[in-house]
Amino acid sequence: MKPMIYLDNNATTPLDPRALEAMMPYLKEKFGNAASRNHAFGWEAEAAVEKAREQVAAVINASPKEIVWTSGATESNNIAIKGTVRMYRDQGRHVITQVTEHKAVIDPCKYLAGEGVETTFLGVDRQGRISMDELRAAVRPDTVLVSIMFANNEIGTIQPIAEIGAFCKERNIIFHTDATQAFGKVPIDVEAMGIDLLSVSGHKIYGPKGVGALYVRRRKPRVRCEAVLHGGGHERGMRSGTLNVPGIVGLGAAAEIALREMPAERVRVARMRDRLWQILDSQLDDIYLNGDIVNGLPGTLNVSFSYVEGESLMMGFSNIAVSSGSACTSASLEPSYVLKSLGVGDELAHSSIRFSLGRFNTAEEIEQAGRQVVATVRRLREMSPLAEMAAEGIDLSKVQWAGH
Ligand SMILES: *Cc1c(COP(=O)(O)O)cnc(C)c1O
Repeated sequence: MKPMIYLDNNATTPLDPRALEAMMPYLKEKFGNAASRNHAFGWEAEAAVEKAREQVAAVINASPKEIVWTSGATESNNIAIKGTVRMYRDQGRHVITQVTEHKAVIDPCKYLAGEGVETTFLGVDRQGRISMDELRAAVRPDTVLVSIMFANNEIGTIQPIAEIGAFCKERNIIFHTDATQAFGKVPIDVEAMGIDLLSVSGHKIYGPKGVGALYVRRRKPRVRCEAVLHGGGHERGMRSGTLNVPGIVGLGAAAEIALREMPAERVRVARMRDRLWQILDSQLDDIYLNGDIVNGLPGTLNVSFSYVEGESLMMGFSNIAVSSGSACTSASLEPSYVLKSLGVGDELAHSSIRFSLGRFNTAEEIEQAGRQVVATVRRLREMSPLAEMAAEGIDLSKVQWAGH
């Protein structure tokens, strides 16, 4: 068996060995509860948690006091959305978000409909970006929250965050961004970008799973969130529960490494992504780039390969771990809603592959992966009746399929 090549870093990243090393003492002898005020075990844990708060805050130019620990970005998004909308319910019941958000934003917004909250879902252009004009037009006197992700997990597209932030400030609307994929990979400044709430996840930045953070602005304006979990009043009442000290220490270490290595890593990862696209594009016809390679995440490459199915492709190059935009990755039979929002047709959405590169990939792996993808696409196309028909000059979009 060939060794596996991991190109699914947007799904989860391996734990950086340096983050693991930082965590180890807190899984062993330094096991104290950070809320224990009466002895050294507690003080030691609390000091570690506060250091991690500084490490996470530094990545986004926030103050450590503005960081709330959570179990991951799903929880951070839930607190940011449900928590603020409920807190400000007397000021309005309208939220604006957009169609390519992660389900951890879409579902809380939909859930709030049951509490009388209306949500507007903005559409996106062919690259997956919202239009500022549409955002301006969607705002109502009762709009309390705008939630727009920093960068998309499937296609890597980066939204015009600073423009959205400036607009929300002007209109006194709270601005939340799900920055799970962008944190530590591209520069983020909550002050310069006018961000009020920002979600982070440990396992997308080479930290551990099951831990995340929510940035909550404390001044200009002071943003308040109702708790979603109630208990001991930890984390300024916003998130009760004994802190996951080893996880938090790992997330802090991962954040510090990401910030320090970002300038070099961004360039290196983007170069590998560009090389992979160059291999595919120079050797295969009828392939399409989904998203935005120019203004997108450095490591994300989403490609549709006409006439072959994503699932068959993934089975064809079984030693490369990637994701596909076709059905089997989810419980439904629908192709990716993100790709459909861009206007990608069902056929091409089903034939898409997301390659997400990261810190631990090597240039040699990219050469190998590129060769294998090319070979697999060629082999599958040789067996594909669709490719044969297209080669004969038949316009597939005009074909009447039985049963359709
Ligand atoms: C992975 C991801 C999430 C969910 O994060 P968890 O920490 O796994 O809950 C939310 N939003 C985006 C954009 C993601 O990529």
